[in-house]
Amino acid sequence: MELASKRQNEKQTVYIKTFGCQMNEADSERMYALLGEAGLEPTHTAEQANVIIINGCTVRAKAIHKAVSALGELQFLKKYNHNNKTPIIGMGGCVGQFEKQMLFKQAPWLDFVFGPDAIDQLPEMIFRVQNGEKHVINTDFDVLENYSTETKLSAPTSKAFVNIMKGCDKYCTYCIVPYTRGKEKSRTIDEILSDVARLVSLGIKEVTFLGQNVNSFGKGNKNLKNREPKKLHNIIGRVGPDEDEENFPQLLKAIDQDERLKNLRRVRFTSSHPLDFSDELINCYASPEQGGVSKLAQHLHLPVQSGSNRILEKMGRHHKIEAYISQMDRLRALMPKVGLSTDIIVGFPTETQTDFEQTLQLLDRIQYDNIFAFAYSPRIGTRAAKLNDDISLQEKNRRLQLVLKHQLKISEKRNTMFIDKTMEILVDNIAKNQILKKDDKNSTVWMGRTSCNHVVNFLSHTSSGLEGQFLKVKITGSTPLSLIGGRV
Ligand code: SF4
Repeated sequence: MELASKRQNEKQTVYIKTFGCQMNEADSERMYALLGEAGLEPTHTAEQANVIIINGCTVRAKAIHKAVSALGELQFLKKYNHNNKTPIIGMGGCVGQFEKQMLFKQAPWLDFVFGPDAIDQLPEMIFRVQNGEKHVINTDFDVLENYSTETKLSAPTSKAFVNIMKGCDKYCTYCIVPYTRGKEKSRTIDEILSDVARLVSLGIKEVTFLGQNVNSFGKGNKNLKNREPKKLHNIIGRVGPDEDEENFPQLLKAIDQDERLKNLRRVRFTSSHPLDFSDELINCYASPEQGGVSKLAQHLHLPVQSGSNRILEKMGRHHKIEAYISQMDRLRALMPKVGLSTDIIVGFPTETQTDFEQTLQLLDRIQYDNIFAFAYSPRIGTRAAKLNDDISLQEKNRRLQLVLKHQLKISEKRNTMFIDKTMEILVDNIAKNQILKKDDKNSTVWMGRTSCNHVVNFLSHTSSGLEGQFLKVKITGSTPLSLIGGRV
């Protein structure tokens, strides 16, 4: 569908403001690609755009507030007809899905609202607004039993997010995702392999498999090709999809075995739940000689949320901290170089100083490379929102600062261990922050990532053309957040 311009020969443009997780980033990339096919070019600012979309996140009250404030800031563009353009404005993501018509009440200047399952209908919704329809809304869940899609790229690149499943069946008490993204559904392994093969033919070297809970991938997909392993286990017993269904370790193994993917170098995935983190998935981190998956990046992001079993139970996480530690120990034994990261929530209702200290002790015990920590805020519609939010904001912030400081020291110590080591990085781009001391004014600071997900900044006399290349760098210094290297 070609979206019309009111004035002949005028280029139509779109600007998307993205909040939240990598799922939302991938969704925005898909929106740009779909709207590109419909004739809308991306632009860097809302002021220049004919269509403005906010892809909002509901993970925390603050995140919703940010998306709704961004909407408020757009009102003047509608009112004052800036640059002779009256933009069409839409709200998507989990905010669109959850708030629905309420958003039109809060912001009558909003033209359309849609949820994550309606992204492919975006051109049609914009067309309807262009043709005079007011307050267009599509927040229907995709009711098909199976999940099928094709990854879209809006521009040439070396890395791609690939959605492999959607939804979540875990219902952690604080989380709104099962209500905004629906029940778990997975693409088939064959469809994903063909999709990735197409991406590789376009130059993609690294993919990140995305889903709310990728390690429960495969539920409901018949294992028609008899792929192994068939049963998944962890310390608590049998986990994951049924024996005759597809599962995540099968997908990783199939990636390694597919001839069409020989130019694919790395596979990452996010996000996971400890309950579905199976022994069979841990085995994928072994060396290829020991049956591991050679393309699997040396990195794992496994959200733990708290170091206290009492709080984990209140969060409805269904796993014990001892089990989590033993999973991490097994993983590190198989792959000592693995980079580990996690998510932490502090100040959950009833969290005592002792519970909080158990979280700090967990950081010491696991020695993460990086954490993402947040102060708890209730989300209306979740079970936790019915609990008494009894920790003051001041105390939540105190704990948040303490946990971040605690981790910073661990990260700093861990990063110094890489000094003098030679590492391979996939170059992302020129670093946004040109902070390194330059040896001459013609050198440029570039940024790339190691397999274990460390950011490496390095100097080069080249100011273009390194994007998407694998390079060897020798680490010469470190900060708590990144490594500094030089090309070998
Ligand atoms: S696993 Fe829990 S926190 Fe993660 S998306 Fe599902 S319900 Fe939310």
